[in-house]
Amino acid sequence: MGNCCSSDSESPNVNGTEVAKSNHGENSNHANDDGNGPSTSSSPPKANPPPSTSSEKPNKPVAIGPVLGRPMEDIRNTYNIGKELGRGQFGVTHLCTNKQSGEKFACKTIAKRKLANKEDVEDVRREVQIMHHLAGQANVVELKGAYEDKHSVHLVMELCAGGELFDRIISKGHYTERAAASLLRTIVQIVHTCHTMGVIHRDLKPENFLLLNHDETSPLKATDFGLSVFYKQGDVFKDIVGSAYYIAPEVLKRNYGPEVDIWSIGVMLYILLCGVPPFWAESENGIFNAILRGTIDFSCDPWPSLSPGAKDIVKKMLNTDPKQRLTAFQVLNHPWIKEDGEAPETPLDNAVLDRIKQFRAMNKFKKVALKVIAGCLSEEEIMGLKQMFKGMDTDNSGTITLEELKKGLSQQEGTKLSEYEVQQLMEAADADGNGTIDYDEFIAATMQINRMDREEHLYTAFQYFDKDNSGYITIEELEQALREFGMSDAKLINEIISDVDADHDGNINYDEFAAMMRKGNPEAAQNPKKRRDVVV
Ligand code: ADP
Ligand code: MG
Repeated sequence: MGNCCSSDSESPNVNGTEVAKSNHGENSNHANDDGNGPSTSSSPPKANPPPSTSSEKPNKPVAIGPVLGRPMEDIRNTYNIGKELGRGQFGVTHLCTNKQSGEKFACKTIAKRKLANKEDVEDVRREVQIMHHLAGQANVVELKGAYEDKHSVHLVMELCAGGELFDRIISKGHYTERAAASLLRTIVQIVHTCHTMGVIHRDLKPENFLLLNHDETSPLKATDFGLSVFYKQGDVFKDIVGSAYYIAPEVLKRNYGPEVDIWSIGVMLYILLCGVPPFWAESENGIFNAILRGTIDFSCDPWPSLSPGAKDIVKKMLNTDPKQRLTAFQVLNHPWIKEDGEAPETPLDNAVLDRIKQFRAMNKFKKVALKVIAGCLSEEEIMGLKQMFKGMDTDNSGTITLEELKKGLSQQEGTKLSEYEVQQLMEAADADGNGTIDYDEFIAATMQINRMDREEHLYTAFQYFDKDNSGYITIEELEQALREFGMSDAKLINEIISDVDADHDGNINYDEFAAMMRKGNPEAAQNPKKRRDVVV
């Protein structure tokens, strides 16, 4: 979550109005830091089947959504939204059921208030375009429709009910090099398809590979094209995006192309074979330094006992020189990966599986905590902000001028906004350039500043786990919390505790909790998060 990118702090108006806003064309002069990427972005994504308008009054103007650029529509007219399936950096995905057919899908909802700037809006548009572009590819999650309402964008996708890739490996309980090779084969085929179709995924990691169902032979599907881009040969990209462990060195050097996807799956393969990431450190910067050094450790267990082919393919996928790195096609032709190829059937040490479990569990725990933080944030903070807005809107017009805002903020006690933050708020709130800010704009803009990463929210999250207010999260409390979120393995819970419990007293105190949450996000407490921020 470190704020690596240097995007500006312009903010779009993403709340929708009765008519199409001028910021439809906002990308026309958008400084395209993606180098020479084809300008596919200015056309709105493909439409769904026409929205049902039967319930609307005949002459009411149809509101155009500023993100997708087409009529806004309430997704609940068509679908019932069910339980949460998962969440990532930006989306929360729920089960959803078509009201007419009863068919089940997954619906990823992206809150518009989280779209911090034009680029974020652009990314959502592109996510939809790329999913449409890749429609029909067997191992890519299919997009069924995209909806926009006042507060959110919803992507309805085919349902992958089998969970995430690592869950499957863990639940199998046994594991061989040959099984890893077979998984890698599918993954590289997906990457090959993307690259052939002119798409770089840019965020390949285990959480973004899902299983269609619970069968042993379930297809694996790539998802989350939120950071993906179109490219053509020779294009050079500069954004620092992705998830820390999986980022290629040339991304950090802001000069890269499709080879970055091979690096990321090279990192995944390393984890699949030994259970720990190849480039690891306590902080995000430490991870980046390790990536830039590019030294791969093959001396620790289980590497000495793995086949030479396994080491060879890892080395060639993790070559720090992108020109020398294997292409997707070359990986597919490596003898280790081939069906009935070199990868041996001998079971991998149980320790590998245990470590994969632990790695997976840490990420999951962190996500649970983030979920708590995100949940705590909205109501409390929105209430406070509403009061603040009302206080500034002296003539009750429902809008405030920039001057009023500035004045209001300077008079407001306890807002804790620095001059820089006020400046940011100004820029953010003046999205449509009309000189006034309405309530929704105000909330959207202020939310960018009062981010979830601040200390008090961390503390709220800690208190959520610390059910009896003892100042410690005990094993029982953690167990209870994790069970609520679908984790119940006692051994794993102990592992999490011993990993986070730096002073080995059997409990997690606030400092240890905060250290865990900040691991890899040294700047998270100070900086607003952007969609493209790197996450650990
Ligand atoms: P983000 O952009 O926020 O990372 P993702 O697209 O990765 O969002 O979705 C977040 C999580 O939601 C995934 O890691 C997964 O657990 C779950 N998820 C996403 N798409 C689906 C789907 N089609 N079926 C089932 N679960 C899904
Ligand atoms: Mg994701």
